Amino acid sequence: MTLPDTWDSPQNILVVLAHPDDPEFFCGGTLARWARAGHHITYQLLTCGDKGFNDSTPDTMTPDALCAIRHEEQIAASRAIGAEGVHFMDCADGYLVPDIDLRRDIVRAIRKFKPDILVTCDPQTLFTAFGINHPDHRAAGQAAMDAVYPAAGSPVFFPELLIEGHPPHMPREVWCSLTIQPNVVVDITDTWTTKLEALLHHKTQIGDPEKFKERMRSRHTEDSTDDAPRYEEKFRVVKYR
Ligand SMILES: [Zn+2]
Repeated sequence: MTLPDTWDSPQNILVVLAHPDDPEFFCGGTLARWARAGHHITYQLLTCGDKGFNDSTPDTMTPDALCAIRHEEQIAASRAIGAEGVHFMDCADGYLVPDIDLRRDIVRAIRKFKPDILVTCDPQTLFTAFGINHPDHRAAGQAAMDAVYPAAGSPVFFPELLIEGHPPHMPREVWCSLTIQPNVVVDITDTWTTKLEALLHHKTQIGDPEKFKERMRSRHTEDSTDDAPRYEEKFRVVKYR
């Protein structure tokens, strides 16, 4: 496996994922590394995570209130990573379906932001180390990949987008996070602290911050030592040219 993020000019990078906190959990170390290197990162999140209730959610919380809080948490987290913008589609959390409407919306985003690199997640990941992969993650990955190919770069798909003023645009590379079939491993040891700091902004999701930090620290590589922990993020990368 090689490290292919050696682009010789600043790249436009669009991150298409389901929920606030997905970018940081799935690939925050890599995104922070790219931001430090001068690349331009924009998030396009398909839901606002309004069903992200857990044991620490106050009884008075409503989905609408949580949606608003999670917008703010995500904006703060993305700034910590070094991303330049966050856009929310606000589809219903938990009910995401990779249908033609969602595909059109993602094609619109691709044509609008014209990314060189599109980051999403692997729709084939059904099981993770923590149980069943959330259906929204699978739906987001499927819809994003279906939007890239064959629709985004072709004028005969979604001609209504041409009328809206969005001509075809094809990303050059697709990076799928949360994959069990990686072909690229990124060492994120240098940006691990930034990833953790960004994740701590997702206060509604992480529970006790100290316990959360401890859990995250345990995700080091097997060749790590106590004095020198090492961290990685893995991707399935598809290159088009
Ligand atoms: Zn998620």
